Amino acid sequence: MDIQHDPYIRSDQERDRLHRLAALAAKFAERAAEHDRLGTFPHENIDELRDFGYMKLTVPETFGGDGISLYEMVQLQERLAMADGSTALAVGWHVGKVLNLRESRSWPEPVWAELCRDIVEKGVMINAFASEPATGSPSRGGRPATTAVAVQGGWVLSGRKNFSTLSPALDRCIITAFCETTGKTAEFLVMMKDGVTIEETWDTLGMRATGSHDIILDQVFVPENHLLKPSGATIDDGGGWLLHIPACYMGIGLAAREFALRFAASYRPNSIKGPIAELPNIRQLIGQMELEQRTARQMLYAAADRWDRHPELRPKLRSDLGLAKMTATNGAIRIVDLAMRIVGGTSLSKSHPLERYYRDVRAGLHNPPMDDAVMAILVGEALEGKLEGKER
Ligand SMILES: Cc1cc2nc3c(=O)[nH]c(=O)nc-3n(C[C@H](O)[C@H](O)[C@H](O)COP(=O)(O)OP(=O)(O)OC[C@H]3O[C@@H](n4cnc5c(N)ncnc54)[C@H](O)[C@@H]3O)c2cc1C
Repeated sequence: MDIQHDPYIRSDQERDRLHRLAALAAKFAERAAEHDRLGTFPHENIDELRDFGYMKLTVPETFGGDGISLYEMVQLQERLAMADGSTALAVGWHVGKVLNLRESRSWPEPVWAELCRDIVEKGVMINAFASEPATGSPSRGGRPATTAVAVQGGWVLSGRKNFSTLSPALDRCIITAFCETTGKTAEFLVMMKDGVTIEETWDTLGMRATGSHDIILDQVFVPENHLLKPSGATIDDGGGWLLHIPACYMGIGLAAREFALRFAASYRPNSIKGPIAELPNIRQLIGQMELEQRTARQMLYAAADRWDRHPELRPKLRSDLGLAKMTATNGAIRIVDLAMRIVGGTSLSKSHPLERYYRDVRAGLHNPPMDDAVMAILVGEALEGKLEGKER
């Protein structure tokens, strides 16, 4: 999808910013294969994104950020992922989480203000580490095995988190832990220094450069004011910020589509006169790719736009947001598959990016909300008030 013809760009300002990002991200695309091969974290991409001002995009303008909308974040994340899925997913957690905090206003004001200031002045980043070997996906409501014990002036946290994306680039993170004293799960702001270690466990099929290692907390002291919120105290924003996830996987799908279209338009085997793009079988596959990307992008951008324009509806948009995620991630998987069918055996080559897209895009199934969770919400809404004697 070239920027000139992208139907979801609404203004010259958006177009200019996407052009600038695409120019920067072209370098990330060149580095992607090597980071994927070695499973290394792309620190240089993060540094360049910091210089670009990417880290402060979702910070409120009152704190010196750009205060961009969810729609704009989706555009940028999609564009970034067209160059490198790992970098996009990693930084997406940061810009997404800041958007979530901005809109839900769930943190104590001084702690929020300090984070915003550090993002704007130093380019720091943040991510939430909730997943654990003991609970699996935190979205299913399991109780964290990580514990918080009340002590004089604060808390002491111990435990292990897995899937800790972006961890090599963070100086602070959000940790969920179970507090025996209160009997509740709570979130804490933890500085990644004394007592916090990264165990480099991330060696996966795809998204290999996201640095999603394990984090070990060994008796980490957290001051009282870094208790962010007891569970359940958040203002429900419907989870709009999580659209950074489908935006990322759709970006990977669009990159595969672009590669396949260029290939189809230029590959001329000597069994035919023109390029393979003129063959009916190839045109059918291209048509299917278009169906997938157009359907998914329409849902993605419509959901983001509604979320931006109707804050009062946000809790009710959860099912539409989930549906957009499910459609985009599954659609992206199919687009990469179709692109590889168009390109043929060459698509398997390590000298081309398609095989990496194929592995990366698969990870979308295991980011929240998972397909079965989306289906559960849809079914719940469909049956609301219809099951005899039961209110939802
Ligand atoms: C690339 C990548 C980056 C990630 N980054 C982060 C991050 O930054 N921070 C973070 O906290 N997490 C992160 N995660 C972790 C993610 O949010 C999930 O916790 C993780 O993928 C495990 O989810 P799961 O559903 O596969 O695992 P599990 O919950 O262990 O589920 C395994 C299987 O059991 C089923 N299952 C388990 N429990 C239930 C249940 N109660 N009801 C129904 N079915 C159930 C699931 O459907 C699935 O089939 C990341 C994951 C990936 C892949």
